Amino acid sequence: MRIYDTLRARKVDLKPLEEGKIKMYVCGPTVYNLIHIGNARPMIVFDTFRRYLEYKGYDVNYVSNFTDVDDKIIKAANEEGVTSEEISKRYIEECKKDMAGMNIKPATTHPLATQEIGGMIDMIQTLIDKGYAYVAEDGTVYYRVRSFKDYGKLSHKNLDDLESGHRKEREAIKVTGEDSKESPFDFVLWKPKKEGEPYWDSPWCQGRPGWHIECSEMSKKYLGEQIDIHAGGVDLIFPHHENEIAQSEAANGVPFAKYWMHNAFLNINGEKMSKSLGNFFTVRDISEHYDLQVLRFFMLSAHYRSPLNFSDELMESAKTGLDRILNTVSNLDFILKNGTNRAEGPLEGEDMDLADAYIRKFEDAMDDDCNTADAIAAIFELVRAINAAVNEDSSIAFVKQLKEKLQMLCDVLGIVTEKKEESLDEEVEALIAERQAARKAKDFARADAIRAQLLSMDIVLEDTREGVKWHRK
Ligand code: AMP
Ligand code: ZN
Repeated sequence: MRIYDTLRARKVDLKPLEEGKIKMYVCGPTVYNLIHIGNARPMIVFDTFRRYLEYKGYDVNYVSNFTDVDDKIIKAANEEGVTSEEISKRYIEECKKDMAGMNIKPATTHPLATQEIGGMIDMIQTLIDKGYAYVAEDGTVYYRVRSFKDYGKLSHKNLDDLESGHRKEREAIKVTGEDSKESPFDFVLWKPKKEGEPYWDSPWCQGRPGWHIECSEMSKKYLGEQIDIHAGGVDLIFPHHENEIAQSEAANGVPFAKYWMHNAFLNINGEKMSKSLGNFFTVRDISEHYDLQVLRFFMLSAHYRSPLNFSDELMESAKTGLDRILNTVSNLDFILKNGTNRAEGPLEGEDMDLADAYIRKFEDAMDDDCNTADAIAAIFELVRAINAAVNEDSSIAFVKQLKEKLQMLCDVLGIVTEKKEESLDEEVEALIAERQAARKAKDFARADAIRAQLLSMDIVLEDTREGVKWHRK
């Protein structure tokens, strides 16, 4: 399997540190609001990559954090007059609901930054002891970027160029004087508390950690000092991931992540979708118009390293594409229930070979840097072949196998092909309520039509003294 590695700036063979195992860390969201569909892109693409690794037989330890202490969380808490904890807890719960809707597997561990402060303090102390960090007068601890010779290796930036660019910029806008940092690119590991902010005791001052140290520590605690893959959106390459490398490698004395994967942006009108620009839709907004599977399918219709523009047309075409697959599965189900012939047909062997060829095509696409766009094209070819090959005379074994094969590929993409019982329950309840309303309005034709529709879904109604009851046939 090949993946594009940002560190080496090319596609490379994936060779895990330990055979058959993958340790993967994906930077998670800052929880101060409902997540937007830009945040959903890394969740969906790296969940899909994880599913494919599992399909290939790897044992994947997948860690994704929630950043639950941050200026934006504190601001939201102050605006509402509640604690930061209340805000972060609420939005973690909401985020988990959205993730379930998008069929994103829960991570092996979802650590919370606020639960790992002790480990962060230890790591910062190690960096100070080794000369990689220094304490300013007010108790702020900074990372000394000049002390880490590889600084810039991930983002392919050179510290001299960065610093001279920064100097010119400041001269141009006539900013004079420097703060307490040795270099403008030195970054905060620990900062003093301000009035009304959450804080923890530390050897330097009461305060809280910087964002970058959180991921270095959580990755180390749950995956170890060396991991296989670290991932996130492209905006995290610099400075977040660059800084994580500087911290982890300086503190632990070993290479940090073997591979770095980054998804491109989800754009809207050619601009990055972001909360600060205000040009975003939340996952919750989308769920009011579409099943979130459509959103998932839309995200996977492009390669994860290509920018993707969000539009109604593309969502509609994702819906049509997804329906084509789901319709084929329900046709197969229909034939399994109602087909008459149980003997193998003359062309079934050949047709099965054709199906297997499309499965290989799917795998080739996924092996080539998780190319979900081409993988979906292979599924469509499989669907077309199934539609042509199967009819009511097909043998049960043949239909069953084709269905299993199609479902196996859909599983890798996280597409659910069977209707979930609970969503079906909601649909049934809504139809029953509509039937009651029709009866009340003396529209008995409509009421009967609904009873018949429910019956076709194998739902039997009983009008009892306590009200309408229903059960499955
Ligand atoms: P944040 O909550 O801003 O730290 O973002 C959480 C994750 O979402 C990070 O991996 C970001 O890179 C990613 N992300 C944020 N906005 C977008 C976007 N418009 N397109 C793709 N990924 C994004
Ligand atoms: Zn991170």
